[in-house]
Amino acid sequence: MTGRTHDLAAITALGAVVLYQPVHTVSLATILVAVFANLVGGIAPDIDQPTAPFWRNLPIGGYFGRVFDTLLGGHRFLTHSILGVVVMGWLAKLLLIFLHPIMPSVDGNLVWLAFMIGMASHLVMDTFTKEGVPWLLPIPIKFGFPPLKSLRITTGKFVEVFVIFPGLVIVNVWLYYTHYRQVLDILHKHVA
Ligand SMILES: [Zn+2]
Repeated sequence: MTGRTHDLAAITALGAVVLYQPVHTVSLATILVAVFANLVGGIAPDIDQPTAPFWRNLPIGGYFGRVFDTLLGGHRFLTHSILGVVVMGWLAKLLLIFLHPIMPSVDGNLVWLAFMIGMASHLVMDTFTKEGVPWLLPIPIKFGFPPLKSLRITTGKFVEVFVIFPGLVIVNVWLYYTHYRQVLDILHKHVA
């Protein structure tokens, strides 16, 4: 999947989780940082891909991308597994603990959850592609859905661009339309 689709999937998953939870009061700073963390989480597993959007946006990203690619065992390897998600989640937790003194009004736990939701959505989305995902590493089997490879999606091609992406847009419209009152309630009463 492309970075664009991954980001949309991440924000869709985050919206779905938030709207099916009881309403909590959060700070605006928490919302902004959580959305950012969610988008980063949505593309984070692709740090093992030298051409990933994650690296393309850095000045010498191409070089670092290749180094990480080798270290992490190539594309769709460690960072695309439950083990990798646990490790990256742990690193994100450390980073948030480190950053807490400079952003005290941000709820680190919610930001962390948003990041993890983004990463989980990435693995789920990649599962629908031809390459599949090695969920259970170190067991080196790549899982895909549907199990028949020929029925799965090719990254950046017709089905992703004209079915999956617009489909996610529709899911968002439906989600916010059916929870419209709740969204207003959150915005009016629960953003501190
Ligand atoms: Zn990926």
